[in-house]
Amino acid sequence: MSGERNEEIVIVGGGPAGASAACILADAGRSALLIERDPEPRHKVCGEFLSIEAQTYLAHLGIDLDRLRASRIARIRLAHGRHSTEADLPFLSRGLSRKILDEALLQQAMSRGAEILRGVTVKAISPEGTGIHLDADTHSEIQTETLFLASGKHDVRGAKRPAAGTMNDLIGFKGHYRLAQAQQIALEGCVEVILFTGGYAGLQLVEDGIANLCLVVTRQCFDDIGKSWGGLLDRIAHECPHLGERMEGAEPLFERPLSIFQIPYGYLHVPAPREPQSLFRVGDQAAVIPSFTGDGMSIALHSGCLAASTFLAQGQASSIFHRRLREDIQRSLRLASALNTTVRYRLGRQAVFHLCRAWPAAMRHMTSLTRVQETSMALVAR
Ligand SMILES: Cc1cc2nc3c(=O)[nH]c(=O)nc-3n(C[C@H](O)[C@H](O)[C@H](O)COP(=O)(O)OP(=O)(O)OC[C@H]3O[C@@H](n4cnc5c(N)ncnc54)[C@H](O)[C@@H]3O)c2cc1C
Repeated sequence: MSGERNEEIVIVGGGPAGASAACILADAGRSALLIERDPEPRHKVCGEFLSIEAQTYLAHLGIDLDRLRASRIARIRLAHGRHSTEADLPFLSRGLSRKILDEALLQQAMSRGAEILRGVTVKAISPEGTGIHLDADTHSEIQTETLFLASGKHDVRGAKRPAAGTMNDLIGFKGHYRLAQAQQIALEGCVEVILFTGGYAGLQLVEDGIANLCLVVTRQCFDDIGKSWGGLLDRIAHECPHLGERMEGAEPLFERPLSIFQIPYGYLHVPAPREPQSLFRVGDQAAVIPSFTGDGMSIALHSGCLAASTFLAQGQASSIFHRRLREDIQRSLRLASALNTTVRYRLGRQAVFHLCRAWPAAMRHMTSLTRVQETSMALVAR
């Protein structure tokens, strides 16, 4: 790509938020250019747990999880120290690797008429006249009337999210494994959440019997064990033998785990007074819920669909969209952030674990309370 382009709508980022917005806009016959920096599908740091809300949006967007061989998960198991407890989830969830899911969403957007530009990174964004100007790394200049910013965790120069008030000392890791047969059978149908000093881990099966181990740890914890992935797993297994047992004899499917730094958990976008009405932030650019809820993708899909529907109905009215999104998710975001803070402390972890052990239904309630509510979704996913 070279030269200058003038577009009606540009979407930066082809994750669940950007791709869902592209689908809705394309369905309405609007010309949308989606720019994705990855030239081809790739793995991303994610627990890959698809809540019922995410599944509802995916079905609405034409994604067939059975055809993609997503796993089925009906129970949650919480492990802490030498103990574990489990309960039924309030819904049947699914597990699917992001490499497959994100590609399926982009293919949907393309088949509905969106133009997808891959392998191009947007370097900077600036308001210009009545529109927004984008600098792309292929020496291109793009002018757009409306911008959907869906770059996920990655901020773009000129539109950075303020870090104040968020927990951003955390590192996320993900690895895929082929577990020993007995361990795979024990994990079947379950998402396991393991609480340990300095963080938590999620373990579940995705497609084809592959196990996804996803961890969130404080930078301090990772520094203390000498910044070594093997050292981190050994330390967690020592504190929580449950994970040690699961990983015994597991074959890693990645050369090294993927990682992501400074995740701004708790972020909820409130537009600055001078922020252009033509700038819609979606997905993690609008809100970042702690990952243990497994609800980030449903928020990304909800915000992508809601922003596109708001634009189609009201034009460049991003403040209306951002207000509505805050109303929809503020309560779950606050509750999830409070829980996340609680489990950072030893006494907090013990209290949460003992509550869940004495009253397993608490896990169902927590799972329900930290989600996008059905009434909010009904207006968008119909
Ligand atoms: C450790 C961890 C575990 C998680 N586990 C779960 C889970 O189990 N279930 C769940 O529902 N959610 C989970 N989440 C949250 C979920 O991953 C995110 O909320 C979701 O991916 C957000 O979607 P998005 O479309 O906003 O961003 P992303 O999925 O990050 O997509 C952004 C896209 O933009 C592209 N991009 C970035 N910058 C540029 C640029 N400058 N130019 C062009 N393209 C660009 C990227 O390549 C990427 O494809 C987890 C998050 C973390 C950190």
